[in-house]
Formats: sequence, C-alpha cells, structure tokens
Amino acid sequence: MTQFSYVESVNDERRAASGSVGLCATCRFGRPIASSRGSEFWQCGKAAEDRAFPKYPRLPVVQCRGYEEGAREPGGPASD
Ligand code: SF4
Repeated sequence: MTQFSYVESVNDERRAASGSVGLCATCRFGRPIASSRGSEFWQCGKAAEDRAFPKYPRLPVVQCRGYEEGAREPGGPASD
C-alpha cells in the first residue's frame, strides 16, 4: 500500500465516523482508540502541547479552535 492510498483509506474511515465523532474524525490531531472492553473513543494530539485541549474530548466535537483537516499519518502529531 502506498503512502497515498493509506491516507485515502484513513480519510474514508474518518468521514464515515464523522457523524458520531464530529470534527475529531477528520482532524489531523484526532486518533481513534479502542479500549480492551471494546468501546471506542478519540484522543486529541493537541492536548500534549496545549492543556486547553482535553486528551479525550467529549463527543461529538462540533466546534474546536484547534481543528485542522487532514489525515494523521504514522508518526504524526497525535501521541499516546
Ligand atoms: S484539535 Fe479539536 S478537532 Fe482536532 S482532535 Fe483535538 S479536539 Fe478534536
């Protein structure tokens, strides 16, 4: 899989999730996390650099000053 197709695949998944997740689904700082109990939540990579952002935003996020559209690439800005 090329880097481009990986990004397009991730973008498709994020667009599909955007209804229940909101902006985090298409934000380059958003990252889906699956718990061991099977529930899914989203982590905000901006929280690592700015404490004004919650690490795990309450969903759906409908407005956010940190939103930047784009796919998170492997090794990108979101961190654990
Ligand atoms: S910056 Fe905002 S929209 Fe982006 S992941 Fe964080 S909370 Fe979600």
